[in-house]
Amino acid sequence: MKLVKENIENINKYEPNKKPYRIKLDANEGENIFFSDIGDELKLNLYPDGDSSLLRDEIGKYLNVDPNNIVAGNGSSEMIELVMKAFIDKGDIILSFIPTFSMYQIFSQIYSAKFIGINSNENFVQDVDVLIEEAKNIKPKIIFICNPNNPTGYLMNKYEIKKLLNNTDSLVVVDEAYIEFAQGSMVEYISQYENLIVLRTLSKAFGLAAIRVGYMVSNKHIIDIINKVKSPYNLNSISQYVGVKALREKEKMFQYIEEVKKERKYLYNELKKFPIEVYPSNGNFIFFKSEVSKLDEKLNEKGILIRSFSKDLENYYRVTVGNRWENEEFIKSLKEILENENS
Ligand SMILES: *Cc1c(COP(=O)(O)O)cnc(C)c1O
Repeated sequence: MKLVKENIENINKYEPNKKPYRIKLDANEGENIFFSDIGDELKLNLYPDGDSSLLRDEIGKYLNVDPNNIVAGNGSSEMIELVMKAFIDKGDIILSFIPTFSMYQIFSQIYSAKFIGINSNENFVQDVDVLIEEAKNIKPKIIFICNPNNPTGYLMNKYEIKKLLNNTDSLVVVDEAYIEFAQGSMVEYISQYENLIVLRTLSKAFGLAAIRVGYMVSNKHIIDIINKVKSPYNLNSISQYVGVKALREKEKMFQYIEEVKKERKYLYNELKKFPIEVYPSNGNFIFFKSEVSKLDEKLNEKGILIRSFSKDLENYYRVTVGNRWENEEFIKSLKEILENENS
């Protein structure tokens, strides 16, 4: 199957000037009149490095991957959109398990693709053989695997994803936004498969959602295509700077991951004590079902915000794993609401 769009294949990538200079007068940039005192590392009057070179170097070290196999940008959200921009023609099919991250469907609509969701099994288990069969029948351009899956927390293992890759020509995009809270990243296989793209982010495990840094890891051929559709200065200098700093102190993140895993276990065990259906999670959140109507609104009256869902997922909720105090407050409020329902 030919994946890349013809009009994209013929684009010559926009290349900003990267020559060394003594005096820079090539890009109509202004003087550094604001924030001139924040240090030489961050020159806010100059356009950012369009390739996010330093950031990609640090990501490369973090993942043990060649920086040439990485594209960085404004969150994995931008990465999802870039994949569609490069590969989706009107009417192409995009396949995914459902429920899953809603942005796949939203971007499918924006790019006039047809989104097809395969229902997960009982307990939201995702059956790779069903996915492979469906892919053979409908020949999707792209298959999205959210792993671990948002909102269910379900994790597919490497062998299942490799089985999928060995049985399809479709582009397989594995969204690993939460993989640090689990294990089984597909990053190590990017050179083994022509059709594998892995998406990652600093928004969750690194706790840096505000700076909007996400990135894609894939083989050189796909990376070259993505670079053609990416806008030249997509990631601002402040985000690049903060991202580099964080990656250089990644021990902090590893420590935080352990903390979240501990709290996830605590929260899971506490939820299990209630008449609630709780699903095991590999992310920094827990998915559960309660028959109490409008549970989210009742919690909100007590100042607590959780995620609710509509339609097929009415009565299902997703709560983020907080710190111990936040989790205790959530459990306390939940207990009050449930006791109130029974009285
Ligand atoms: C949170 C999340 C992201 C991250 O998006 P960013 O744009 O990087 O902040 C990506 N995919 C999934 C499934 C998510 O839940």
